[in-house]
Amino acid sequence: MNLSICETCGNPITNRSELTVSKEHFFSIPKAYHHECYIDQMEDIRSYYTQVEPINSVLYSLRIFMLTAVYFFLFSIRIRSVMYYLFLGISGSLLGIEWFSRIYSLVVYERQFLTKKHMRI
Ligand SMILES: [Zn+2]
Repeated sequence: MNLSICETCGNPITNRSELTVSKEHFFSIPKAYHHECYIDQMEDIRSYYTQVEPINSVLYSLRIFMLTAVYFFLFSIRIRSVMYYLFLGISGSLLGIEWFSRIYSLVVYERQFLTKKHMRI
């Protein structure tokens, strides 16, 4: 299986603890970085990042789980107003993008470190 290539330095990411997945802005495709390269890059272009925590972090996963729980709660209220449905539509789409990023990161970048075969390298 091919290793992920770091977006900053172009070298393969060989260890799970080195992997940091992040997006440049909310609507972009998640990319893989070495933890070190990500930190270096963050110092230069921090202001352009909309989210600070990496996608493959526990904090990010917890955040989308909590937002999803809140969303289903709001969904269950069923207020008969246009604003309510508009809000549900917009926040649902944004939540969908967060889930897409998380699953994309898992399938494309993190999956390779989940197999035992790769652990020996
Ligand atoms: Zn790198």
